[in-house]
Amino acid sequence: MNKNSGGASRLTTPPKPLDMGQTFSELAEMARTTVRLHPRRGTPGRKESSMGGPLLWPRDEQWPRCTQFDQHGSYSDIDLPTDPLPLVPVLQIFARDVPELPFPQDTDLCQVLWCPLDHDYVGAAPAVTVLWRDSSSITDPLLEHPPADPPHSEDEYIPHPCVLSPERVAEFPDPRDLPWDLQQRIQQWENEARHDWSYFYHLSAAPGTKVGGWVSWIQDPIWLTCEAGHELEHMLTIASWESDGQSWKTWTPVEDRGRIGWHPGNVNGHSVQIPLVPDQRPADIMIGDAGSMYVFTCTRCDHRPTLTLMQCS
Ligand SMILES: [Zn+2]
Ligand SMILES: [Zn+2]
Repeated sequence: MNKNSGGASRLTTPPKPLDMGQTFSELAEMARTTVRLHPRRGTPGRKESSMGGPLLWPRDEQWPRCTQFDQHGSYSDIDLPTDPLPLVPVLQIFARDVPELPFPQDTDLCQVLWCPLDHDYVGAAPAVTVLWRDSSSITDPLLEHPPADPPHSEDEYIPHPCVLSPERVAEFPDPRDLPWDLQQRIQQWENEARHDWSYFYHLSAAPGTKVGGWVSWIQDPIWLTCEAGHELEHMLTIASWESDGQSWKTWTPVEDRGRIGWHPGNVNGHSVQIPLVPDQRPADIMIGDAGSMYVFTCTRCDHRPTLTLMQCS
């Protein structure tokens, strides 16, 4: 099941408690493979795939800076910048680790950066830049890129460096991406079930930061088209949380389960044990209110246009 062409993953999603593809044959036909990136705090090098890590960058190429001052807004008390603001590294992925990314011809390196401020035109979220490179052409790399500018940036938009452990898992669509009739039958199945598993939270699309596969929507699905009218594909998701208060039950890797702690809490007057799942926010980012940044692309257009969409609760 978990074929990891980019080397064995350190982290493994456990098998699901129920096989939804057997319960609903239409779902089996809609199964897709996603690559969970499993970011974990670490010290990646510039020649490694990473989240928030150093990028392999040509020394003679200027570091990108944002000058869209009129687009900047902030819900916190930071001083908005009046000088060009350095973009910060969000993801760097080599084809050897995740060949599933739609690398344009003669490229093997995907770099995702963003401006660490809310931009009005993307619905108060960081403005994303995606770059494709041929890593072998970078013979004289920049040894240290410009540091982030915390006084003028949202702290929670500056990811802490993480290493990645790509893992391939099968997943089913978010329920809202299913035909209405099937949604209804799954709802009915949940109502009649003698267990606590929810299709949406536990058995459908993988939460967290990932490449390809289905989108784990936070709000209603929005499928975008490119300028040529092609429907865009989900390229990757950058998530605030690797899992939430429900999805951790089926999506926490086997290797992390022994590290789950519990603390006493209170829900509606009942005392309960609340789980403390390790590494739920490995890069310490928070996009809106526990939001996700979805990056879409068109593989039918050679220049790989990308569009981003942010959703939060
Ligand atoms: Zn900006
Ligand atoms: Zn297109």
